[in-house]
Amino acid sequence: MNLADTYRQKGLRKKLIQSLREKGKFNEQVLQAMERIPRHLFLPNSSAFDTLMYEDRAFRIAGGQTISHPSTVACQTTLLEIQANDKILEIGTGSGYQAAVLSEMGARVYSIERQKVLFDTTPGLLKQLGYTKIKTFFGDGFAGVAAFAPYDKILITCASPEIPESLVKQLKIGGYFVLPLTNEDDNQTMIRIIKKSETELIKEEFGTFSFVPMLKGKSY
Ligand code: SAH
Repeated sequence: MNLADTYRQKGLRKKLIQSLREKGKFNEQVLQAMERIPRHLFLPNSSAFDTLMYEDRAFRIAGGQTISHPSTVACQTTLLEIQANDKILEIGTGSGYQAAVLSEMGARVYSIERQKVLFDTTPGLLKQLGYTKIKTFFGDGFAGVAAFAPYDKILITCASPEIPESLVKQLKIGGYFVLPLTNEDDNQTMIRIIKKSETELIKEEFGTFSFVPMLKGKSY
């Protein structure tokens, strides 16, 4: 695979990040991490699309899935308020881009994917790009990854029909849970849950988004 990151691509990326910065709502460390990561390498046949990869757009990846808009990644990562060494569970590894952003910020990332085609390719790409510490799992994110719980933060990167109870259980007290929750208009409302205690959850809302669905079971 060609891992080139040319001056032109770096330049396009810088412009994209500057345009996100001008929106004034994203954390600066998140933007700096995104500026260091060659997003074009997360798309198959990336060289043909590299200009488009540095526009604020989502893209089709394998298995009928998508790599989220850069602004959506910036939003979810900002809401997580990442601290170095945070232990994070991501539901929906997909292209691996979001996992790379979290890892670049110094978090310990555990990421689960239900689509075999993506699980077969993304972990290798992440390793090639130097993200050797990200742990990837093949399975159904509704169940989480109990073996490594509890997590400081949990992030769902597909449209969740509910707030999965099993994931709330795997979150530390004081932990943050960011998820796009499907609303009555069939879009998603971005939600952040703070787990105050075993019984008290604080729920905040952050606008409307559109994600691919979170589906049950595995897909081969
Ligand atoms: N974070 C990804 C976003 C990919 S799109 C990225 O940066 O590219 C959402 C992903 O969630 C898809 O790959 C989809 O297959 C996956 N997904 C959907 N339902 C899931 C589930 N129950 N468990 C794990 N992954 C799931």
